[in-house]
Amino acid sequence: MKEKKHIIQSVTPGSIAEELELEAGDAVLAVNDSEIEDIFDYQFLTQDSYIELLVEKKDKEEWLLEIDKDPDEDLGIQFENGLMDEYRSCRNKCVFCFIDQMPPGMRDTLYFKDDDSRLSFLQGNYVTLTNMSDHDIERIIKYHLGPINVSVQTTNPELRCEMLHNRFAGEALKKMEKLYRAGIEMNGQVVLCAGLNDGEELDRTIRDLGRFCPVMQSMSVVPVGLTKYRDGLYPLRPIEKEDAERAIDQIERWQKIFYEKYGFHFVHASDEFYVLAGRTLPEEERYDGYIQLENGVGMLRLLIEEVTEAYKNAKGDLRQREISIATGKLPYPFLRELTDLICEKFPNIRVHMYPVTNYFFGEKITVSGLITGQDLIGQLAGQPLGQELLLPVNMFRSGENVFLDDLTLEDAQRALQVPVNIVKSSGQDFFNAVVGEEKDGEETSWQCYEIR
Ligand code: SF4
Repeated sequence: MKEKKHIIQSVTPGSIAEELELEAGDAVLAVNDSEIEDIFDYQFLTQDSYIELLVEKKDKEEWLLEIDKDPDEDLGIQFENGLMDEYRSCRNKCVFCFIDQMPPGMRDTLYFKDDDSRLSFLQGNYVTLTNMSDHDIERIIKYHLGPINVSVQTTNPELRCEMLHNRFAGEALKKMEKLYRAGIEMNGQVVLCAGLNDGEELDRTIRDLGRFCPVMQSMSVVPVGLTKYRDGLYPLRPIEKEDAERAIDQIERWQKIFYEKYGFHFVHASDEFYVLAGRTLPEEERYDGYIQLENGVGMLRLLIEEVTEAYKNAKGDLRQREISIATGKLPYPFLRELTDLICEKFPNIRVHMYPVTNYFFGEKITVSGLITGQDLIGQLAGQPLGQELLLPVNMFRSGENVFLDDLTLEDAQRALQVPVNIVKSSGQDFFNAVVGEEKDGEETSWQCYEIR
């Protein structure tokens, strides 16, 4: 008798699963007589040209299905639990953890601290490796999974224990060495905290991680995000202009070294550093194909390039239009400049642009992805908004019209008495939204600054 049942949530129309008459509520018990621990096992075991699938139908009858298929062809099954296992929460108490700095009373899921290596592969999450067992490492190596995205913070073991508030955090660095030796692709991330892992410690971390090049493909350095809810937490100070200048100088120096050796730049400072330092953003080539975009590295450069391209391709005309745009204080000057550029070819478009101050989390939080409905409504009420208000998609929960504070798109429309247009990811989308054209842009993204 197989112990673990994986309940099917849905099957893809036209898939092998549908052909085999599998349906929601049935359960997968085994593949090739092996029990399935989680999604890793399932993906590995089903990548074969012949498989035997043991299924328990809703009426408890067991079916053993023999399947001949192309090795890469997916069976078309979605499971109720995407991981096919319990989600693992983190064992750390990082001094910079954003979740510890959130106000009380938000929706429960926002307080869940995941640190599950399987999410690293499935969704690109960054993990600390502190709750990864030898068995996990062996499976990653056996299945040759990758890339694994590692929240490194520092390669100094004692400092890592202090920063992650976990006495095993230093030891966990050795797991990177194992993954490196096995050729498992990795990316790294450092949340820079002034006086802790900056300065010489940052040089040490870059130097140490550089040893894993090119198996480790990139590392990003992002400034710590501090909200106003830090009572009783580790005393951290915000990254100031001088800190940002110093970090950029260090990182750019290392970029030259890596570029000479490997032909790519490896280490990247996030956009926020350049804004804090008041420096020009790096040119596009320096982002190595925007490999760290999800960490806020290159989002602004990509947006500039895409909007400029759309502008060049546009004819321009005298259409009449009045709209408004709300965004965070960080991207505001860039969006202002790009909007002014667009208006050179469309002189009768009037744009009211509003940088929204983040009172909800605190004024040091300047990204658009953490703006709440209440801050937006509170600061735009009574302002001229024109015929529609444009908001970036990253202000909303993925796939839904809900802000971080659970207010909805409809709440904002009702309160501000203006239709809201959620602008999708690319620079072409932004251009189209400003000029009032429906056409969707390509799905390249300058998406979210995630909660970290
Ligand atoms: S930052 Fe991540 S790993 Fe650290 S305590 Fe928070 S959730 Fe856990």
